[in-house]
Amino acid sequence: MSKPSTTLISAGRRAEWTQGIVNPAVWRASTTLYENCAALEEGRKHNADGQLFYGRRGTPTHWALAEALTALEPGAAGTMLFPSGLAAVMGALLAVLRPGDHLLMVDSVYDPTRRLCDQLLRSIGVETTYYDPMIGAEIATLIKPNTRAIFLESPGSLTFEVQDIPAIVAVARGHNIITLIDNTWATPLYLPALSLGVDISILACTKYICGHSDVMLGSVTSNAATHSRVRLMAQQLGQTTSPDDAALVLRGLRTLDVRLARHQENGLKVARWLAEQPQVARVIHPALRDCPGHAHWARDFRGASGLFSYVLKGGDKMARAALIDGLTHFGIGYSWGGFESLALPIDPEHFRSATHWQAEGPAVRLHIGLEDADDLIADLAAGLACYPAR
Ligand SMILES: *Cc1c(COP(=O)(O)O)cnc(C)c1O
Repeated sequence: MSKPSTTLISAGRRAEWTQGIVNPAVWRASTTLYENCAALEEGRKHNADGQLFYGRRGTPTHWALAEALTALEPGAAGTMLFPSGLAAVMGALLAVLRPGDHLLMVDSVYDPTRRLCDQLLRSIGVETTYYDPMIGAEIATLIKPNTRAIFLESPGSLTFEVQDIPAIVAVARGHNIITLIDNTWATPLYLPALSLGVDISILACTKYICGHSDVMLGSVTSNAATHSRVRLMAQQLGQTTSPDDAALVLRGLRTLDVRLARHQENGLKVARWLAEQPQVARVIHPALRDCPGHAHWARDFRGASGLFSYVLKGGDKMARAALIDGLTHFGIGYSWGGFESLALPIDPEHFRSATHWQAEGPAVRLHIGLEDADDLIADLAAGLACYPAR
């Protein structure tokens, strides 16, 4: 089997989809026309992926993207596309949970996923218990007879705890419980989650896979034990994505390896510099030694992307706002994974229930883009020089 960076280039480029050009065209379709009634009947019987049937089932543009994402996750049986990362989280959870089931959800999870559990899943009779991201094998103590699924997000996208995935998977397997991971931070390139025994890997392709901050799209890649359920749920929910968006995400995917390498290099350079600054209490970056779960990162991950946080030494939220507002090279906004740097004030204490967020001062999340790291550092240095730290 070829190496991941080679797979990234060739995956999904079947001749029948690309017709001899490098990328598949943007196939737009709702209706597929059949030669006659017998052919229509035949198409319905097969119910196969990768064949034109009806627009909701996708076109070669979608299949090429889905197949490429599947190829990037060794152990995967298939990938379903969703109109956003959050829709992908939702589709995957609905695929594995039924009324009366119990879900174990990591406490550091992306906040909209938490709201999904607390509101929609709750309203259909699914009970959620939040667990400490650092719980590891101790998760066994939280399992109930009706526990159906364990959801991981590693690292958390605000506070960056790196979970002990193999320990949690081993417990889950022993109890016949399905594991799902939000793998948006690392992507399958830096964390081949299904190889570690996770059943379902979810990506907000909106972030690094697209990489250019101009598309919303999500994906769910599953192993053989779970893929048919995810596929059925995605189809029942009527989830589709635009072929233009699929083509843009596929274009972004081809350069993921080189982009991530630069995000990693720049991110580490900025993180290490920040850690030395007197105004900074700590930097929370999975590749730095004092990050919770750093040893898990070193054991299981192949790299670090460009998203991390730092905690200021004292000062208040107004001082933090002034610090962020004064930056030149950092945009202020949600999302991340594009080519550009972003800064975001974060207050993780509002999104916790099983654990407590304690910090020396206000916190900032940075997405480090593809700019020259020295320019980013100079920008951050100018801001910190005026920061009223303790
Ligand atoms: C952004 C994000 C999502 C949701 O993706 P959207 O495409 O914005 O809906 C899910 N999980 C994580 C960790 C994210 O950062």
